[in-house]
Amino acid sequence: MIYVPSRMGQLNRRALLRQLQRLGVASRAELAKALGMSQPTAGKIVDELLELSVLEEVDLSLTNGREPSPSPETILRGRPGRQLRLNQSAARLLGIQLGVNETSIAGLTLGVPERDEWHFNFSSNGGLHPEKNWEQKLRAAAAQVDAEKLLGVVLSVPGVVDEAANKVLFSPNLHWTEKVDLVSLVQRIWDVPVLLVQEERTLALGHQLANPGEDNFLLVDFGDGVGGAIVVEGRPFVGTLPISGEIGHTPVLGNHRKCGCGAIGCIETLVSTGGLLESFAAASRKKNKSWTDLSAHILENGIEPWLAQTLDAAAVAIAGALNVLGLRRVVITGSLTELPPSVITHLSRAVQAGSMWAKFGSVECLAAPRRRAAGLVAVGIDRLVVPDAIPQKISSEK
Ligand SMILES: [Zn+2]
Repeated sequence: MIYVPSRMGQLNRRALLRQLQRLGVASRAELAKALGMSQPTAGKIVDELLELSVLEEVDLSLTNGREPSPSPETILRGRPGRQLRLNQSAARLLGIQLGVNETSIAGLTLGVPERDEWHFNFSSNGGLHPEKNWEQKLRAAAAQVDAEKLLGVVLSVPGVVDEAANKVLFSPNLHWTEKVDLVSLVQRIWDVPVLLVQEERTLALGHQLANPGEDNFLLVDFGDGVGGAIVVEGRPFVGTLPISGEIGHTPVLGNHRKCGCGAIGCIETLVSTGGLLESFAAASRKKNKSWTDLSAHILENGIEPWLAQTLDAAAVAIAGALNVLGLRRVVITGSLTELPPSVITHLSRAVQAGSMWAKFGSVECLAAPRRRAAGLVAVGIDRLVVPDAIPQKISSEK
């Protein structure tokens, strides 16, 4: 007979996976208790997910209670009383981060990755036909990736992304991605579902997954560009338009630099890696300044006026967003966190000065690592393992 898992069943599955992401390892009984489900209900979901190799069983007694590394002896199936975790034995997702300058790839298991580890770096741009170059280099990398058990490819992309339509609408720093069908391009190499995810949303989801309880924040990432993403009540903010968090394209009065978006004076042109280096070179009257030079210079000379002005301008945009959105927590990721801590301290004070909540409550800005791989796993689980639209499944069971 045809068996269609109910929407309720799918929500239960998702809740169980979320709980397991939080706990890392848990028994059937612990999961049932944490979720307020009966043990048979939780047990049935666990069995289905084991069958699909989404979960695996581990025997912690063999490893003295420490988180075991996956090896055939520790992975046992179908034995009650054993501990469960998300499958970490085989890469089930392929993560691609298509950055403004560089693209890199990682095979991802369904477990929450401890840190980002990317491989096969190659240039995202270049030549008259960057899309052809990119496809060629991706194909070369693919030869070295084990794709046998892939559920899908999750692709982090910059710019304005319509995730529902799986399409890049506008990419100020990587215009070629607007014109090509990235999904078909990737599918010519890996014939599996491909999901496009906006890069800062990926970071926000990853931060949330790696820090259970962080449910309300604005994430601002600094790098080749500057972008943001918003998480409210544990969920990524979705507006009526497929655009949000575009803090980098807030104009700064008196700034005449041209931005990739076509406007003049965007904050991104000042506080992106390239923008900061340009200002640093101008202030020190020397060309070819590196990020390491800048870091050393700040350590020695503190926050000079040119840098203070730039950070203050970024803080105005961030504080404006906090005031409008009703948030009090800012997570800063990327290049600014690699500079001496005085930079984040300066930015943080300037954000507080501009936020209304700080007049009587507390506003926090904290530096955090980029957790893009974790974010791509979160998207893969939500949209490929337990999608909202459930495909019909033929089964002899009821
Ligand atoms: Zn712009």
